[in-house]
Amino acid sequence: MSAGLFDRVALIGVGLIGSSLARVLRRDWPETAIIACARSAETLATVRRLGLADETHDDPVAAVKGADLVVIATPLSAYAEIGRRIAPALREGAIVTDVGSVKGAAIAALGPELPSRVHFVPGHPVAGTEHSGPEAGFAELFRDRWCILTPTPETAPEAVSKITRLWEKAGMRVVTMEAEHHDKVLAVTSHLPHLIAYTIVGTATELGEDLQSEVVAFSAGGFRDFTRIAASDPVMWRDIFLENRDAVLELLQRFTEDLTALQRAIRRGDGETLHTWFTRTRAIRRSIIEAKQA
Ligand code: NAP
Repeated sequence: MSAGLFDRVALIGVGLIGSSLARVLRRDWPETAIIACARSAETLATVRRLGLADETHDDPVAAVKGADLVVIATPLSAYAEIGRRIAPALREGAIVTDVGSVKGAAIAALGPELPSRVHFVPGHPVAGTEHSGPEAGFAELFRDRWCILTPTPETAPEAVSKITRLWEKAGMRVVTMEAEHHDKVLAVTSHLPHLIAYTIVGTATELGEDLQSEVVAFSAGGFRDFTRIAASDPVMWRDIFLENRDAVLELLQRFTEDLTALQRAIRRGDGETLHTWFTRTRAIRRSIIEAKQA
């Protein structure tokens, strides 16, 4: 990584995303000091065992001391409290960024807490898996994925360009947009699909015992893909639905209407509607593959 971009990086939260970024820093920028913060002794011990940090702390205040970059990578519900605690300890001119999946909520939680002497660059690396914790991370997680930055009117452009360079070094394509727009886009591409997966898998588990074992045996028929998504972290996803409520509810309304239209087509034996619909969705899959996002 370009020498001198950051000297001391504090990762508040060192799970899938935080530990993946630590691995990128270790690989590309070995002279940078990495300070990891998590709540549990177990997570911190794992981080030490994996050699992902130079220092580990359970106290975010101690972790951010002297850092020129602070990356908040905890579930969204922890943001406001972390912001409140670290604010007095942040170094003059430090950049604070985050990786949270809902940007309006991230800005609402952190913005009012952070002092004017630091630069806040809200961000979302749109890359993930259904796994959690420091052992689940890997440096290549971010490669060829998009990172969305949602700077506020107060965010200094130089801070945005430094965070852009950081994520580009991780292999990401970086784009900036308004937080509200981000939250609408992600409601479509990520939040609703997760809600549907959680629903289907939940419904299946409500079925009788015999059918349940067959659901597992024959899961390759499509159900298996939903179970992968529905295995995602419950705390993270609870927070996402609570924090992006309006965009998700609006979209759910549209989805319900479309579902009803397909339901009607099936009931009426209207194959043409079904065929047209499925042809259109197949083309969308092809365009995702062509964009190398499959
Ligand atoms: P994760 O693997 O569950 O890790 C969360 C980390 O945050 C753990 O190290 C946890 O420490 C720590 N933590 C939780 N509460 C804390 C607190 N109050 N103070 C200090 N540390 C705390 O989560 P993740 O998947 O990396 O997700 C982190 C963030 O990234 C979320 O905001 C999520 O929206 C966003 N994101 C996730 C994905 C994805 O696919 N997973 C993709 C993009 C963005 P302990 O282990 O000690 O509890």
